[in-house]
Amino acid sequence: MVLSMETGVLSVVATPIGNMEDITLRALRVLGDADYVLCEDTRVTGKLLKHHGIEATPKRYDAHASVSVHEAIIEDLQGGKHIALVSDAGTPGVSDPGVLLVARVLHETSDVRVETIPGPSAVTAAFSIAGISGNQFTFLGFVPHKKGRHTFFARVAESELPVIFYESPHRIMKTLQALVDADVGKTVSIARELTKLHEEVVQGSAAEVLAYFEANSDKVRGEFVVLIGDTV
Ligand code: SAM
Repeated sequence: MVLSMETGVLSVVATPIGNMEDITLRALRVLGDADYVLCEDTRVTGKLLKHHGIEATPKRYDAHASVSVHEAIIEDLQGGKHIALVSDAGTPGVSDPGVLLVARVLHETSDVRVETIPGPSAVTAAFSIAGISGNQFTFLGFVPHKKGRHTFFARVAESELPVIFYESPHRIMKTLQALVDADVGKTVSIARELTKLHEEVVQGSAAEVLAYFEANSDKVRGEFVVLIGDTV
């Protein structure tokens, strides 16, 4: 007699980075079908689910999830459950929680399928409207807060490939000043509030972009992607 084992599935689902409509049909179906949805903030994901009329159970899962939380999730997957993983915005695992869970499932289970439900990510969205030449770039995640800043900006200045990184509104001015100091010598693009009402791309030398935000301090808010590389 052959026993058929239920195979658990972990769906890693990309969600909007601002505009609620930026979600795939497949993502909506998977979020509705899953036994539960792991998310960073149940209020953020609850809003998305409600917007799309999806009845699902969001459960908190963040970068600080304990060993026992991971074990419970893996047990559920091994028991045949279908779990969806989302982050607050964009693609889980891209400067967001998810990597540890995915790695544990891949390494510790043999009968659980990990699938991607691709969609928005701020890094690709920003690159797509920056007009930067070349088919390659280096993505550096977030700028280090303290240790490693000098090396970070030296690496940006020396890079042969276009460089993209994330920055918060509280630190963007300091980062623009650091780009001026590092003498990057290439075009700096700031992609701000992508897919939202105040979406804009500001381009120029590091000094020009810094001057723009100094003169428009009301725009030093929201979410930022920084791109350094010559435009076509
Ligand atoms: N997982 C996400 C992704 O795939 O893009 C990134 C999450 S990371 C915690 C958040 C950072 O992404 C923000 O600080 C900002 O740098 C960038 N970001 C997210 N949404 C954005 C948007 N709508 N416009 C510009 N940058 C955004």
